[in-house]
Amino acid sequence: MTGSHGAGADEAPAPVTVLAGPTAVGKGTISAKIRELYPQIWLSVSATTRPPRPGEVDGVHYRFVSEDEFTRLVETDQMLEWAVVHGRHRYGTPRGPVDEAVADGHPVLLEIDLAGARQIRRTVPEARFVFLAPPSWDSLVERLVGRGTETAEERERRLATARRELAAESEFDVTIVNDEVPRATRELAGLLGVRDLT
Ligand code: 5GP
Repeated sequence: MTGSHGAGADEAPAPVTVLAGPTAVGKGTISAKIRELYPQIWLSVSATTRPPRPGEVDGVHYRFVSEDEFTRLVETDQMLEWAVVHGRHRYGTPRGPVDEAVADGHPVLLEIDLAGARQIRRTVPEARFVFLAPPSWDSLVERLVGRGTETAEERERRLATARRELAAESEFDVTIVNDEVPRATRELAGLLGVRDLT
């Protein structure tokens, strides 16, 4: 029994796979595992105006840029998509590196928010869209509160975003349920055409 369903799970890998899902469902954890365990998968490094958190490395986890630099990237059409996430900072996928990775034949993974995923549907229509779902709403709330890094106001804002984002599941080609990180990571790698050797 796997956690996936929906059209697309048994098809050949698409050149670009988009992983999206609600706030705190664990997209960051899954993409970190992909980075660690599957170097064959080319994981896009987003540009963001958010300041780095402790341990985050410029050029590895994000490309940390100023507001002016982000605006320049957008205005010169260097972003495949971009969005303001949680009503605060801007995040976007630089276009050039993705084009190069696809041209080089790498399986490409974008871990982005829902607004970004909707733009990719227009800019990269052949992409495959994977929705990372929580095992339950309660588990999502628990994760959101358990993390404890946000203020109550910020948490409410994130919950409201999560409710809207959960409702978007039907727009996606495949759902992966994040019941266990190693299993969900393996399933995602499988969708990208990478079989587990670990
Ligand atoms: P965090 O600030 O916790 O690293 O990320 C916050 C949110 O930004 C996550 O939901 C993540 O999916 C989203 N995000 C990260 N990079 C991008 C991007 O390039 N584009 C879009 N649209 N969202 C992104």
